Amino acid sequence: MENGNSLSKPVVPELEKKLLERIKDSEVSLRIMHVCGTHERTIAKYGLRNLLPERIEVISGPGCPVCVTPEEDINIALALAKSGVTIVTFGDMMRVPGSAESLLDVKSEGADVRMVYSIDDAIVLAEKKPELEVVFFGIGFETTVPSNAAALLRNTPENFSLFASQKQTPPAINFLASDTNVDAFIAPGHVATIIGTEPFEPLAENGFPVVVSGFEAGDILLGINLLQDQVEKGISRVDNGYPRAVKPEGNQIAQKIMDRVFETSDSEWRGIGKIEASGLVLRKEFEEKDAAKKYEDLYASALEDVRKKAERKDKKRCICAAILTGKAKPSQCPNFGESCTPKSPAGPCMVSQEGMCYNWFKYARIGGGKLA
Ligand code: SF4
Repeated sequence: MENGNSLSKPVVPELEKKLLERIKDSEVSLRIMHVCGTHERTIAKYGLRNLLPERIEVISGPGCPVCVTPEEDINIALALAKSGVTIVTFGDMMRVPGSAESLLDVKSEGADVRMVYSIDDAIVLAEKKPELEVVFFGIGFETTVPSNAAALLRNTPENFSLFASQKQTPPAINFLASDTNVDAFIAPGHVATIIGTEPFEPLAENGFPVVVSGFEAGDILLGINLLQDQVEKGISRVDNGYPRAVKPEGNQIAQKIMDRVFETSDSEWRGIGKIEASGLVLRKEFEEKDAAKKYEDLYASALEDVRKKAERKDKKRCICAAILTGKAKPSQCPNFGESCTPKSPAGPCMVSQEGMCYNWFKYARIGGGKLA
């Protein structure tokens, strides 16, 4: 079994010890949801669930970008790749199965699928290889959207387009607040660095204590304690537990660039369904760069083909949908650690370092999987 850390007992530094003592001194019980793959990795890697008192439960929501990218979008990318278009995307995205197969599968059959680290790499490829039709399959949250927008504001080659499968975090949290049995939320610090703390206010107005947290173990422990403080005082507000990076107003330059290029749309989240106003699509003035428009006809026929194949495929039962909404834990999945491992993922939550199943598997020995 793969393990990223051979320690059997976490070593707790002084600051974290003090924060833990404060958490344990409080009698507040909380079921807290975070919505960030990096938070999940820190929690699992440092065995934080093992250190917290039983009355504090921390569950993971939909914070892993490849986990929430809908099957249908992956199917479209697959169809484009099979038609001869060059699909470029992040490495993790290549391994996530659509309805029937992954981009890596079709690459092994000869399709032109390439890994990049950013949209800029994809543009450079299009410039160097004008004979290719290059589509960047852009996924992710408000953290990656500004760089996509900035790239499109520059002159890009004619043979380049963007297939945007981008998400906005606050609408998803608001949706989950009404659907999930959760008392409080930890909001992602990197997203708040861009959008600020204000978009999380409606959640607090609806009675949910919220804290914006950074990504060190101490940041998360501080966040939990700030949430306890709110409950003890009988209030709900948005606390900024990551002031070294997050300003209340966020990064206004990044917001302007995003707004210039993208507009809000409804969006499908894998395992959750459609969430109102939670997506970002290209504005009309950028439709020449919009792969969804450029390959409209191809989508329809190719998608039909992919769907038929998907219906024939005997899919392994994957409970990522329940995991992403805090209704189940990875250890409740019959495939976990058996037919589904990071080397051979059967579902999206096992693919990325930000996926909950991946982290529970990788850090099992030090307590990544407590609360099973
Ligand atoms: S262990 Fe694998 S199959 Fe099970 S929920 Fe996680 S990703 Fe899906």
